Amino acid sequence: MGETRKGDLHLVALTKTFGTFTAVQPMDLTIPQGSFFALLGPSGCGKTTTLRMIAGLEAPTAGSIRIGDQDITATKAHQRNVNTVFQSYALFPHMTVLDNVMFGLKRRGDKDARRKATEALELVQLEGLGGRKPVQLSGGMQQRVALARALVNRPDVLLLDEPLGALDLKLRRQMQIELKRIQQEVGLTFIHVTHDQEEAMTMADTIAVMNAGFVEQIGDPATLYEKPHSTFVANFLGQSNLLRAEVVPGSPRDGITLVRSHDADLEVATDHLPAGASDVWLGVRPEKLRLGEVGGPNRLRGTVRDVSFTGVAIQYIVRMPWGRELTVVQQNDGSARASLGEDVTVSWAAEHGFALDASQDAEA
Ligand code: ATP
Repeated sequence: MGETRKGDLHLVALTKTFGTFTAVQPMDLTIPQGSFFALLGPSGCGKTTTLRMIAGLEAPTAGSIRIGDQDITATKAHQRNVNTVFQSYALFPHMTVLDNVMFGLKRRGDKDARRKATEALELVQLEGLGGRKPVQLSGGMQQRVALARALVNRPDVLLLDEPLGALDLKLRRQMQIELKRIQQEVGLTFIHVTHDQEEAMTMADTIAVMNAGFVEQIGDPATLYEKPHSTFVANFLGQSNLLRAEVVPGSPRDGITLVRSHDADLEVATDHLPAGASDVWLGVRPEKLRLGEVGGPNRLRGTVRDVSFTGVAIQYIVRMPWGRELTVVQQNDGSARASLGEDVTVSWAAEHGFALDASQDAEA
């Protein structure tokens, strides 16, 4: 991750057990200063517990937390320069919006509290609404107030615990873009907890995918999506169309290796194969598959079992003769469509497949 900076957040063997249950297995993570980092995983995988340890709301069982070279493991929550935005906005209902945002600064005797709070409200595009009471604002606006309040003292780290969970889908999508803009504008470290992979991919520069208390893989959204290291990550980030296959011995040539899956020889880029693997899961994302023989040398025949129109795309479920179903997503670009019950060829390019070592990874 290159040189470390004084605002980088380091989790060092950070662990949390509740009785005999380990919610967070020893975790080592560096979150670079100024990054938008997402902790992504299913319910119960330990995301919130990790966040609460960073906030100082939960004491780690072992390990440490540093910001730069400053160890904050034993620092009380209110003395850490770390703020949290929760799904529930937790605004003071009797105070105006401006007073809510200024509250912490005024308590600390900051003479510039009003100016800073006004600027924070501008940042979240609520200028002019400082005199209102929270109840006079929509849910999305209240969430912006909570955000302004959490940003007003420029924390080292802003923690976001499913902050958009209470918003409807359209507002949620708007706020994802908005949060990303705000993070880029203020340049502070944001750590966002979510179980929604699309949300994490939309906003974060780096995502840590968690499963059962472990970090399974860390990377930028495109790498995690296109080169997952495990079936868990492959499946959690979207449809992955995994096919069991065997590497054909002696086949690597010109950067291509052959694998055999249900009597079909399929090509995969050799550098997408785990070294030494012989049994693999071959995965291809739905939008990389084509119906017809236009997508590449890899071809499988199957029968269309479902056609769904989603607006921007058409999604097909194609069943292979051995029962496996592949999901194919085609742009709704006016090209000919396949119909239910039709026999079709599904094809794709070698470089669009990824492979996982099946001997290490029973599919989830
Ligand atoms: P969710 O999105 O559902 O909150 P999560 O990934 O954030 O999931 P955590 O809330 O961190 O998960 O919980 C991880 C595990 O630790 C869960 O199995 C949970 O039941 C357990 N856990 C969390 N807090 C406590 C507690 N105070 N006492 C006992 N077990 C706990």
